[in-house]
Amino acid sequence: MRKCRFCERPAIVRLRYANLPLCDEHFKKYYMGRIKKILDKHRIRGEILVAVSGGKDSMALLHALNEISKVEDSIGITAFHINLGIYDYSQKSEDVVKKFAKEIGVVLITYYLKKEIGHTIPEIARTSRRPPCAVCGIIKRWVFNKVAYENGFDYVATGHNIDDVSTILLKALLTQDIYTIIRAQSEFSPPKIDMKLVGRIRPQFYLSEMENRLYVELNNIPVIEEACPLSIGATTHKYRSIWDSILRMNPASQINLVRSILKLRSQMIVDEPQLVQCKKCGYPTESKAGICAFCRLMERVHRTGE
Ligand code: SF4
Ligand code: ZN
Ligand code: ZN
Repeated sequence: MRKCRFCERPAIVRLRYANLPLCDEHFKKYYMGRIKKILDKHRIRGEILVAVSGGKDSMALLHALNEISKVEDSIGITAFHINLGIYDYSQKSEDVVKKFAKEIGVVLITYYLKKEIGHTIPEIARTSRRPPCAVCGIIKRWVFNKVAYENGFDYVATGHNIDDVSTILLKALLTQDIYTIIRAQSEFSPPKIDMKLVGRIRPQFYLSEMENRLYVELNNIPVIEEACPLSIGATTHKYRSIWDSILRMNPASQINLVRSILKLRSQMIVDEPQLVQCKKCGYPTESKAGICAFCRLMERVHRTGE
């Protein structure tokens, strides 16, 4: 085994995209450095609501942001979990998050979807006849923003990784989904508080699932191992497997694809969507009809459910 780039100890991993062999301690430092770099680049200060599902990405994010907040007085964090009502899976996820937040001394807010909006994700997907992950995405985005806004948070942090982001963009390219390309989000979306829009930060945007998994293992962070039962059949799975062979050929290909699209996006002349406040809930929307995606979805559920 090779030696770590920064010390005499054996490397436990070689990050191929950077040709970087690292021991356990230097990997942890490197990982934290990558997260910190994103926070510094966007001058993130204030209170961050960290969205935690119980999966490895968001649990690694919570741990790393908590470590940073211990040494950075200007950053405070609170964990946030949504119980989506997905059978046993949601209960197990909630238990893992609760236990870990307590262990590291972070305040946790738990939001029970059934109690707050009257329906679970399986119920909404069934009644609206839309794919579960599509409805789940709409609901989570709305809930994160609403809870963060109502509780005075400056940012919501979410655990997107480069595997997810690059797969969504690759799928968009291969299916001529130009809307997704035009709307491609980077690691940071600024707040627009007059529009009730809290800022979004995605500190693991350029970190891979493998790096998040390794960080979780090295820090003994508990995670929910099973996959969400509703994820089976999601079309992104098919596109995800394409990366295996591309990454063997070019280990930096995922990062390069995302950077290329974001660069192209910044050069495109597109009409910036006008944000308006939803006529029903008051939260921001780009919809010309003035009703946000969440409220439209709920209208559909109530209509079909009657
Ligand atoms: Fe929601 Fe789909 Fe994720 Fe399950 S896999 S939690 S339904 S987005
Ligand atoms: Zn080392
Ligand atoms: Zn609305």
